[in-house]
Amino acid sequence: MAAEEQTPAIVLRARDYSESDRIVTLLTRDLGKLSGIARGAKASRRRFAGKLEPFSHVMLYFRRRPHGELVFITRAEGASLAPIILDDDLGKIALGSYMVELADSLASAEAEARQAYSILADSLLTLAAAGSSPALRQAFELKILGWAGFGLEFDRCRVCATPSADSTLRFFFVIARGGVICIHCRQDAPECGLPLSADSARALTRIGVDPIETAAQAQPAGADGSVSLARYIGSIIDRRLRSVEFLDSVMPAGSGPAR
Ligand SMILES: [Zn+2]
Repeated sequence: MAAEEQTPAIVLRARDYSESDRIVTLLTRDLGKLSGIARGAKASRRRFAGKLEPFSHVMLYFRRRPHGELVFITRAEGASLAPIILDDDLGKIALGSYMVELADSLASAEAEARQAYSILADSLLTLAAAGSSPALRQAFELKILGWAGFGLEFDRCRVCATPSADSTLRFFFVIARGGVICIHCRQDAPECGLPLSADSARALTRIGVDPIETAAQAQPAGADGSVSLARYIGSIIDRRLRSVEFLDSVMPAGSGPAR
């Protein structure tokens, strides 16, 4: 039998399987995204104790199988890790559901994801403590995109490097450029882009750099920034995330005050 391994992990999704088992997908600190089967999970409160639900932050114990993708989950314990408690607030559940689904979409099985685990854990813990906000949503989006290799730049024109904050020029977000271009460079570019205000460019620049706890308190980008991020994510993920509609109904894109 394979040796038992362990890693901190966050449950991304879980579903019942057969009469008593559960199949669970987690983002782990040490082993990337992992899916496993928990035998008898519905009956064994001693080994699992409700720890295999979405958002659960657990120390996961498992054994690999010689064949097949699913590991055997042997135990899940929560005592040593900060709990993520979102179930008191619809806004928290909506944004948390979106965070785990976006992380799930960008992470691939057993690829290195230590930073993604940190981003997700920090974001969910901030969400649990401080509540849902457009700034936290934008911070999570920018950081998880950066981890996945889809980092964005808003601080200067991607072509001529004119700073977006200090300039009197108008700027446009262009998906193919991964950032903004100024109106002069736009005239020579085949892409038209979405207008992005200087305030939103400044907000996204700052939110992308600050730690998540700080960024969540920042002034968010306005609707132009939220729509730019949503379009960019849509260009990377070729299906609509199920949680987006729910989140947008609770927190409309750009509901943050734009200065
Ligand atoms: Zn330019």
